Amino acid sequence: AADRLQHLSSVPSLTNDGFPVQLEANISSVKELELVLKNGADGIGLFRTELLYMDRAQLPSEEEQFTVYQEVVQRMGSRPCIIRTLDIGGDKQLDYFAMPEEDNPFLGYRAIRICLDQTDLFRTQLRAILRASAFGNAKIMYPMIASVEEVRDASRILESVKEELRSEGIPFNADIPVGIMIEVPAAAQIADVLAEEVDFFSIGTNDLVQYVLAVDRMNEKIAHLYNPYHPAILRLLHSTVKAAKAKGIPVGVCGEMAGDIRALPIWLGLGVQELSMSVQSVLKVKEQLISQHKESCRQLFEGLLQCRSTAEIQSLLQDYSLTKK
Ligand code: PEP
Ligand code: MG
Repeated sequence: AADRLQHLSSVPSLTNDGFPVQLEANISSVKELELVLKNGADGIGLFRTELLYMDRAQLPSEEEQFTVYQEVVQRMGSRPCIIRTLDIGGDKQLDYFAMPEEDNPFLGYRAIRICLDQTDLFRTQLRAILRASAFGNAKIMYPMIASVEEVRDASRILESVKEELRSEGIPFNADIPVGIMIEVPAAAQIADVLAEEVDFFSIGTNDLVQYVLAVDRMNEKIAHLYNPYHPAILRLLHSTVKAAKAKGIPVGVCGEMAGDIRALPIWLGLGVQELSMSVQSVLKVKEQLISQHKESCRQLFEGLLQCRSTAEIQSLLQDYSLTKK
């Protein structure tokens, strides 16, 4: 099936009415780059850096991280590479880093909360990313942001790290774009305010769905309740994208929903122009994208917003995809 679609790797990512959508890849290591390049992904929309910190005896050094980030941005050439700062905690633990026993790890000490607490660890990663930014189109993204204070605290640290590099005469891109994941409901609710603080948003539907619906994304027993096609999710996606557009910053999507072809009419209806997904999904999504009509999706989305239930939303989406065929 992959081969059947290979010819699409060099086809521009546009709907049939000419609406461009960057189709990017989520990666966790440099090993995936080969397929990213083969499939012609338009960039790296999410580099999950956790793997660099896992299955080892101590924290990765600045040099070690720099080598990896540099390879990623260099091999991607001019294409954007969004490097997400450490998103440990929740389901991901580190052997050498004592994490507190928690009743609710997904509501606990994780991601940006750890980085703002353990600033040495955070500074080392930021130094490595900034140094790599001299070699390509790197962008920084903070996970699990829930407030303006967290963005400002993180950016204050980033500025101080830049100052340090400057004083050492180490090159970096001083204007490196800084974005945040929108994956906590609070962040989605204040998207208009957050949009004034950062250069871009990336919606993390995996966690957003978990937190909005109060459904643990890892719990098999309630997996049937983990359904992103819920009116509450659509409303939140709508207001988040609207806020970003009103403030003139780009908004992408990097959760699993970005690579789900059933959701594509939703993203087009919202006017999202950046979807980041597992590298295996890029060509399958492109195959659908080039046959989609943006304006029809916009009209469809108006209808979806009126739906009262998940069942209604799914049936409207299904009808739409059937009439298209
Ligand atoms: C998300 O939460 O949607 C996301 C992309 O991040 P992760 O799956 O790494 O939590
Ligand atoms: Mg997440």
